[in-house]
Amino acid sequence: MPKEGFSVITITQEAHDKARTRYNQKVKLGQVEQNKSFSRYVNDLIIEKVEEDENLARQAPFMQKVGLQDNSIMIKDNKIGRIAEVQIRGKDLVCMLDDRRDCVHVGFAYAIPDVYRVISERRR
Ligand SMILES: [Zn+2]
Repeated sequence: MPKEGFSVITITQEAHDKARTRYNQKVKLGQVEQNKSFSRYVNDLIIEKVEEDENLARQAPFMQKVGLQDNSIMIKDNKIGRIAEVQIRGKDLVCMLDDRRDCVHVGFAYAIPDVYRVISERRR
């Protein structure tokens, strides 16, 4: 039985190993707060991701991030039933579906923390 205030979940060996490797790297680089255990690290990651997801869902309930790689974000627009690809071009975002820089998909993409981070780094 876990301690009071804690729950046990089972994750795949693959997910565990991946998280453990990343945790060890961050410890080596001094990017993990002192005394932050591996369990706490995973715990904080989950909370961070769920909150991100909640925020996005609140902003545009009909849109969903389905993929993010290099310079491209795939967004599922359930209102029109299509996937919109938003590309990061230099310091800007461009929607391939609408061929615009100011459509709802671009607005939604800016709200994704990872995207916002990349853009603001480039604008510095
Ligand atoms: Zn668009």
